[in-house]
Amino acid sequence: MHVTVVGTGYVGLVTGVGLAKMGHNVICMDIDHKKITALRQGQIPIYEPGLQELMIECLERGTLQFTSDPSYAYQYANLIFLAVGTPQHPDGTANLSYIESACDTIAAHLTESALIVTKSTVPVGTNERLRARMAKRLPTGIEVEFASNPEFLREGSGIHDFFHGDRIVIGTENEKARLWLQELYEPLEIPMFFTDVRSSEMIKYASNAFLATKISFINEIANICQKTGADVEAVARGMGMDMRIGSQFLKAGVGYGGSCFPKDTNALVQIAGDVKHDFRLLKAVIEVNNQQQEVLVEMAENVMMLTGKKVALLGLSFKPNTDDIREAPSIVIAKRLLAAGAIVRAYDPQAMGNMKRVLPDLLYTSAAEEALQDADAAFLVTEWKEIIHIPLKRYVELMKTPRIFDGRNVYSLQEALEAGVEYYSIGRKAIG
Ligand code: NAD
Repeated sequence: MHVTVVGTGYVGLVTGVGLAKMGHNVICMDIDHKKITALRQGQIPIYEPGLQELMIECLERGTLQFTSDPSYAYQYANLIFLAVGTPQHPDGTANLSYIESACDTIAAHLTESALIVTKSTVPVGTNERLRARMAKRLPTGIEVEFASNPEFLREGSGIHDFFHGDRIVIGTENEKARLWLQELYEPLEIPMFFTDVRSSEMIKYASNAFLATKISFINEIANICQKTGADVEAVARGMGMDMRIGSQFLKAGVGYGGSCFPKDTNALVQIAGDVKHDFRLLKAVIEVNNQQQEVLVEMAENVMMLTGKKVALLGLSFKPNTDDIREAPSIVIAKRLLAAGAIVRAYDPQAMGNMKRVLPDLLYTSAAEEALQDADAAFLVTEWKEIIHIPLKRYVELMKTPRIFDGRNVYSLQEALEAGVEYYSIGRKAIG
C-alpha cells in the first residue's frame, strides 16, 4: 500500500512515523516547506518524547519520506490519512478550510482511486460533504471512498498511544474500506470499534466533551471544598475508587487547555445548535473552565498586592511533556499577572520558545530556580517532573517571601506546613 499522511503536526507526524515503524511505506506531506526541510534532516519542529528517534530510524530504513510536492504525495497513493488542523472560528465553529483545501489538492493530483481516512477532528457530516466536494473535482474514472478514524492520542505520550491506545474507532459503511483498515491496524492488537461514519465523528467530540466535563466537575467540587473545609484531593480519591467513576481526569487544577478540549467543546455546542439543541451542560462546562483559569490569581489578589512584585511562573505548556501552549491556562494567568503590574519571570522546560511569540513581555529564565530567586510569590501552573520535584526547602532558600500558589496541588499540606511556606492550592485549606 502507498500511504500518504497529510499534515505533519502532532497527529500527522506521530501517525506517519507510527505507520512507517510498522513497515508501511509512508509519505508525509505538508504545505509548510520549512517544516518539511527540517523533517528531512531528522529535526522535528515539536516536542514529543521518543518521536525524533523513531522518525530518524524510519528515515534511515527508507520507510518514511517527507514532501511538500502534492504530485509526489498523491499520485500513486491508495490510502491517504488527513491530519491537518481544524482550529476554531471566532464563533466556536470548526474551521474546515485546511481540510477542504487538502482535499481539493488531492483531487487535482490523484491518478488512482483511493481511500481517504479522516484523522482530523471534524463535525458530524463532514466526511460526507468532503466526499461530495471531491466527487465534483476528480478526473473521470477516479473514485474516492472516505472513512472516519478519529485520533485519541495525548500530546506528550503520542508514540505510546499510537502503539498502545485503548481503542481504534473506524467509521465506514464501505466493506472494502473496513477490511483495508482492519488489516492495517490488526498488528497493533488494539481493540477496534467499527461503526458508521457519523457516529465515529461524534465519538471524538463526545469523548473530549465528557473528559472536559469530568475536569470542570471536579474543579467545581474543589471550589466548594475550599469554602466548606473539605479537601478535594481526598474527595477525588474517595470518588475515584468507585469503578463506575474512575480516578482519571478527577484532578482539580487551573482548568483544561490545549489544542483539543477548548475547541472541541465549543464546536460540539455549535454542532448541537445547528440541529436546534441547546447543549446546556456543555456550555456550563466551558464557563466553569474559563472561570477556573482565573482562580489562582484571584487567590493571590486576596492575600497580596501584585503591583511591582516579582513573581515566578513555573510551567507554561498546557500540560507536561509537550511544548504546546495552545489555549494553555498559563496564558490567562500570565496576562492577569502582567495586568496587575507584577514582574513575571517565567520558566518552562520546553514551551518558552512558543510562549515568547505570544507573550514577549514575560521575563524568561533558563531554570526554575532562577525564576524563584528573590521572588515574592510563585505560581505553579504545569506539573512538569522537573518542577514538581523542586523540594519546598528550595522555595524557602531562594524566594524573598516563600509564598506559593499551586495550581496543580503538587505538595501535601503536611509538607507545606513542615517546610514553613505560605501555601495556597486548589480546593484545599490555605496555609498562611
Ligand atoms: P497541527 O496544527 O499541529 O498540524 C497541522 C499541520 O497540517 C500543519 O503542519 C500544517 O502546516 C498542515 N497543513 C495545513 N493545511 C495543509 C494542507 N492543505 N496540506 C498539507 N498539510 C497541511 O495540528 P494537530 O494538533 O496535529 O491536529 C490535527 C487534527 O487532529 C486536528 O483536527 C485536531 O483537532 C486533531 N487532534 C489533535 C490532537 C492533538 O493532541 N494535537 C489529538 C487528537 C486529535
